[in-house]
Amino acid sequence: MDPSAILHIDLAAIAENWRLLAARAAPGAVAGVVKANAYGLGADRVAPALHAAGCRHFFVAHLAEGIVLRETLGPGPMIAVLNGFAPGADGDAALVPVLNSLGDVHSHAAAGRSAGQARRALLHLDTGMARLGLDAAEQARLAADHSLLAGLDLLYVMTHLACADEPEHPLNAEQAARFARACAVLPKFKRSFANSSGLFLGSDYASDLSRPGCALYGINPTPGAPNPMRQVLRLEAPVLQIRDIPAGASVGYGASFVAARPSRIATIAVGYADGYLRSLSGQGGAAYRGLILPMVGRVSMDLITLDVTDAPGLVPGDTVTLIGGAAPSPDDLAARAGTIGYEILTSFGARYRRAYGAG
Ligand SMILES: *Cc1c(COP(=O)(O)O)cnc(C)c1O
Repeated sequence: MDPSAILHIDLAAIAENWRLLAARAAPGAVAGVVKANAYGLGADRVAPALHAAGCRHFFVAHLAEGIVLRETLGPGPMIAVLNGFAPGADGDAALVPVLNSLGDVHSHAAAGRSAGQARRALLHLDTGMARLGLDAAEQARLAADHSLLAGLDLLYVMTHLACADEPEHPLNAEQAARFARACAVLPKFKRSFANSSGLFLGSDYASDLSRPGCALYGINPTPGAPNPMRQVLRLEAPVLQIRDIPAGASVGYGASFVAARPSRIATIAVGYADGYLRSLSGQGGAAYRGLILPMVGRVSMDLITLDVTDAPGLVPGDTVTLIGGAAPSPDDLAARAGTIGYEILTSFGARYRRAYGAG
């Protein structure tokens, strides 16, 4: 028996999710955000699946991610680097940097002018994140002097929503208004606006290119409402050992769980080193033939333990489901762990065997 857990990744569901978002965004285009190795799922498999579904624009965070992705996808689709190229670095001509400051604008425009060939780029305007992008003062300087853009071939002007997953938050409309005002005093460029949740905020958030990430991977872009996306993930692992313990015996580090009854305890080779967060101690649960087997004791580095007293048929080598299907979704686990589904996905460890297929 191979004791390692298998992370099943449904590429057809990812493609279906992209099509769903593409239909919502039409006539605007929809990119695939595949930064952080496609949110931990494997950009080498996810990006080609998105491309096959019709996706022609991709976003990564780091230059190095973009270089690998270009090899994966070959020439053709746009690959934009959200964090831009390092100051003074040439970057990579096959990739498109996002210009995040007036300094970035200056250096890329100067490089384009001296090469006699305009440099492709995206221009990022900060409208409320205070993270990356030209701030209000820089936007005003650019608006006052469009010649600063000479030497650039700006494919899109973009901004990023801070609170798109909270439809009632007043910053959403404020950001839409700031973005519209900022674009109105620049030459006319295509615009890129919504992330996953932004696509569900209404027509004020439509643009020429939306940039969903999490929703492609099955995370609910509309928290509090039913998830409109298809489930993508299933984490399965075999039972390593099962033991009987008497009432009063404890399980795991800190003896945090004490059996109230004679119990059967199953051990699984998944732990916090695999991204099964330690804060899920006592909170997780596995699905097995219609039963939910509660997790007991602490999550340790390489192992978790389940109370399988109520599943007498379960034997070592049998497979239980830890995420997806009848088991908690990544969003469910995130809620229990005090985090967000994004962190559950991007924490998935290297020891999981990733299996790509449908269903
Ligand atoms: C990560 C990111 C996205 C994708 O966001 P989701 O919430 O995952 O859809 C879009 N735009 C920018 C600038 C990002 O950093």
